[in-house]
Amino acid sequence: MNTFLIVLAFCVVLSTTTTTTAFSFFDDNILNGLILQNDTVTIDLASIDYGHIVKVNPEAVLSPTSLNDIQSLIKAVNDNNSSSTLSSAPKTVAARGQGHSVRGQSTAEKGIVVNMTSLGSLGRRIVVVPNSLLGPYADVGGEQIWINVLVETLKHGLSPISWTDYLGLSVGGTLSNAGISGQAFRVGPQIANVYELDVITGKGDLVTCSRIKEPELFYSVLGGLGQFGIITRARIPLTKAPNKVKWLRLFYTDFSVFSRDQERLISLNGRMREKGGVEYVEGFLLMKQGPLDLSFYSVPDQLRITTLVAQSDVVYVLELAKYVDTAPVDEDLEVLLKGLGFIPGFAFSKDVTYLEFLNRVAADEEKLRKLGLWEVPHPWLNLFIPKSRMSEFNSGVFVNILLQKKVPVGVFIVYPLNRNKWDDKMSGVIPNDEEVFYTVALLHSSTAEEVEAFDGVNNQILEFCRVARIPVKQYLPHYETQPDWINHFGSKWPSFQRSKLTFDPNKILAPGQKIFN
Ligand code: FAD
Repeated sequence: MNTFLIVLAFCVVLSTTTTTTAFSFFDDNILNGLILQNDTVTIDLASIDYGHIVKVNPEAVLSPTSLNDIQSLIKAVNDNNSSSTLSSAPKTVAARGQGHSVRGQSTAEKGIVVNMTSLGSLGRRIVVVPNSLLGPYADVGGEQIWINVLVETLKHGLSPISWTDYLGLSVGGTLSNAGISGQAFRVGPQIANVYELDVITGKGDLVTCSRIKEPELFYSVLGGLGQFGIITRARIPLTKAPNKVKWLRLFYTDFSVFSRDQERLISLNGRMREKGGVEYVEGFLLMKQGPLDLSFYSVPDQLRITTLVAQSDVVYVLELAKYVDTAPVDEDLEVLLKGLGFIPGFAFSKDVTYLEFLNRVAADEEKLRKLGLWEVPHPWLNLFIPKSRMSEFNSGVFVNILLQKKVPVGVFIVYPLNRNKWDDKMSGVIPNDEEVFYTVALLHSSTAEEVEAFDGVNNQILEFCRVARIPVKQYLPHYETQPDWINHFGSKWPSFQRSKLTFDPNKILAPGQKIFN
């Protein structure tokens, strides 16, 4: 079954199932007046995520019909942590947005999973305010998925500013990490594009927070891996949506030229509306071991590209986009392309609508679902790497490990970001010091039997970085021990730990992250 069907089935199952098993510690599946589900189907659905690697059974699932339901649950689970309750009583709670984590982060072993999607039934959960002193914004439920936010805001000619590549992710889920895509170099990650949040803390209090009001909670929650509270509303700034997008792919075989051009494009930041500026910069790798997805290109171009890939070690594809309002941008692009060092004749472009561009991964998703390749294990590794070490990383990882070992190319993404667009007060972790750092996403798809081999490659990459003293930081981090987490957070650890004590003193929230549990 595919993810969307699972989510749908999840909602249907949660609202119709009658085959429940009684809990040992509360009567009739009722806890603090809340009806919970613990039938096998519901538990199974809540026990896995997009990674299909970790399977962890919660004790039960709550489909809240109000914010009060979540508050009552959290208060009851806090009570369970007092010494007088049965030792088997659930002691943890995990919000599950879309379950698109890959290592069990949205599960709660023997705890309670909150099926956030059910908040969608509360009425209007995406409210666009086109005019305000702040400028236009949207108040969005934490359970909403980004494609729905986009569709709703486009009805007003408006759009959020910062994106992820894939839009089937929940607002609360991406704000708990960072939310990055090719726009982040000029506008920052999604966590840097939030005015205000409503959060139900680990103590069960519903708190509105912002940079001014309750700032400690606001900064802790953004990038906070679900540790301090459950986001039930986010106020997201909006901007005028462009009509069209010019979407380009430029090919390189020399990493130094590729990265020089990427860095040049992201440095045009402040002058983006002038000639030569673009709104989106990413990049990805093609390797001869394949597989190659060439659906972007015409058939004759596909042949040329296949030949180039076969003859090269690694082909680096710089992907960029220029938003088109009313005036044509072709002249500006011509100037821009003249200054770049891609292989002559290997620049390809498409004109698409803004919606098509932002929702581009939906087409891949549909294809993969048809092939039965969406609901498979995903042993992903996502890293942030300081710019000064990227050349070493390229030869050590892209060429020596991935190419030499013929690791199948799932989707291997690489693009630079500007540190000054991130707010250091937020919990999200990026490498220290350097102004520019790269994101590298190795998005492997595998069979169940291959997971170990892919994890072996991932570990080899991390070991290479350790030995070479490349100070990488994991994005969408996964660690099993607290010392590793302390190392990950570095100088942010003391305040992260302090906020945990303040907002979730019994350590009940998001146990699947394995930071405090
Ligand atoms: P879940 O997996 O449900 O939850 C993730 C964590 O957040 C859990 O700890 C959970 O308890 C917590 N959480 C969930 N909802 C809330 C809430 N409302 N309040 C507080 N905590 C909450 N990321 C990017 O930055 N850029 C990308 O381009 C990108 N592309 C992706 C493409 C795919 C196909 C997939 C599967 C993931 C991608 N991601 C990307 C990663 C994604 O942003 C994270 O995995 C995100 O957490 C997924 O959101 P979710 O709703 O599925 O979260």
